This record gives sequence, C-alpha cells and structure tokens, in this order.
Amino acid sequence: MAGKDLIEEAARLIAGAKNLVAFTGAGVSAESGIPTFRDPGGLWDRFDPYELGGGDIFSSIFRGSKIPASATTFVSEMLEVLEKAHPNPGHLALGELERMGILRSVITQNIDNLHREAGNTRVIEVHGNIFRLACLGCGSKIGLSREDLFELGRKLVGLLQKGDLQGLISLASRCWCGGICRLDVVGFGEPVQDMPQAVQEARRSDVFLILGTSGAVYPAAYLPEYAKSAGAKLIEINATGCYFQELVDVGIIGKTGEVFPRIVERVRELLEMD
Ligand code: NAD
Repeated sequence: MAGKDLIEEAARLIAGAKNLVAFTGAGVSAESGIPTFRDPGGLWDRFDPYELGGGDIFSSIFRGSKIPASATTFVSEMLEVLEKAHPNPGHLALGELERMGILRSVITQNIDNLHREAGNTRVIEVHGNIFRLACLGCGSKIGLSREDLFELGRKLVGLLQKGDLQGLISLASRCWCGGICRLDVVGFGEPVQDMPQAVQEARRSDVFLILGTSGAVYPAAYLPEYAKSAGAKLIEINATGCYFQELVDVGIIGKTGEVFPRIVERVRELLEMD
C-alpha cells in the first residue's frame, strides 16, 4: 500500500524536479472505466488481437481479409467504453502538475485522449490516438471530435453487422486526396509513433514517473531505462506491483487515481512552504 513515507518521498522528488516527465499506460485510464488489455477480464483476455487484424480492423478489411466474427462485438464494446470515459483524478492531477509549471511532458501508451482532455498539452502518444484518422494514401492526419468518432463508430458497427465491405470502404474514404483512412492507432507489429521525441524526453528528464503500465510492450517499455541511464530518479505507481523494480527509486503499489492526487497535493504544500 501507499505508505505516508513513500508519498512524502515521491512528493519531495517531484517538487525538486527541473524536468519532470510522466510515462503512462492503460492502468491510468482503468479508473475511467477503460479496461486494461492484459489484466484478467481485459480486452486481450477475451479477444484474439491477431484475429482482429492486429488491433486495426480497418486495415485488416482493406488487406482483403474477411471481417472477423468478433470484430463487431470488439468495436461496439470499445466505443461504448470510450464514450462513457472521462479523465479521472489521476489524469487531472497530471494536468494540474503541468499548469503548476512542473510537468514537462506526458509520454503515453494510451490511445484514449484522456491526458489532453485533462489539460495536458505536451502529450507524446507512442501508440497513436483513436480520436485521429490517418490517410493510407497521402499520410494526412485528421482529428476527430468526440461526436465525430462516435458517429463514425456507430456507422462502422452497422456496416460490420451487415458485413457490408463496400460500405466500409466508402465510410473510410474521408481524406481530401480521396484516400482511405484508418484509425491512427498502432496495431501489433506496426511501428510506434514519435519514439525519437519520447526517447529525447526520457533522456532529458531528471525525475521520471511510471504510471499504470506493465512494461510488457516494447519499444515503449525501454523508456524508463533511457531515463535511468541519463541520471533521472524514477517513481513508479501501479495497482498490482512494481514492474520496474530494479530501476525505480520510489515504488508505490496503489491506484494512480487515488495515490497520485495525494502526491500532487503534497507537492503543492511543499512548494508553498518554499
Ligand atoms: P497493460 O494492460 O499491459 O498494463 C496495465 C497496468 O496497469 C497493469 O500492470 C495493472 O496492474 C496496472 N493498473 C491497473 N489499474 C490501475 C490503476 N487504477 N492504477 C495504477 N495501475 C493500474 O497496459 P500497458 O502497459 O499500457 O500496455 C498495453 C497497451 O495496450 C498499451 O500500449 C496501449 O496502447 C494499449 N491500451 C490502451 C488503453 C487506453 O488507451 N486506455 C487501454 C488498454 C490498452
């Protein structure tokens, strides 16, 4: 559990940081109602990502493969969950740290846009963002509002239910160049996005937060090592254990939505005392 001493130690490191960088994973969004992928009952516990075209259903359809039977359930579940999700106190505390002028950037593996919704403006999304389309023709990126994404999603589910491949292709033809678009999320085996920028941020950090990630997905999971080897102090918060035990200076077992706001509150007190 998150003892008072660990909270104090983490808050002191953060309050003294010159370049604080946060690295987040699915656990940070769990308290917003978005299931993690690998925990029991998580998405990859119930669906086979390879059957779903490596996580990117649009591309698997365009590659000419059949629409997988589980695709409709997967897409409608994902959309239902995302539509209900809003930033939780863990996201809001990170937004607050940026407003306080302490947090330099957030590197996230999440695709749910919740860090931006919580007010963070310097967000590096190494696995993409589901609120964005990428054109397979010219490479343009097209941002989607919440309304746009969920309307597109409802149409997608309807077409999947009918098995209407032609309808799916016209739905995805959204770019000014006439090209077909896919959701701008990184599927299995695909290259991550903005990794050089993420590595640079990790190397520049003097305090590096690791929040709600199992560290199972590479190359993102190398980032704490980059930060450590450049001399940063590492703080990890995870609900089920310490996954970067050999690297971290402070490891706290607890939910980010409960523990992190307490730390940020203490950071505020320490800075007011200065
Ligand atoms: P993961 O599912 O492998 O691990 C999540 C970790 O979070 C686990 O170690 C779990 O113990 C911990 N956790 C669960 N609830 C927590 C809480 N309330 N507070 C703190 N920790 C908590 O996730 P990962 O390491 O991010 O890797 C999974 C990949 O799947 C990511 O790369 C991401 O692209 C994708 N994903 C994204 C979302 C999202 O956008 N919200 C959700 C699921 C998966």
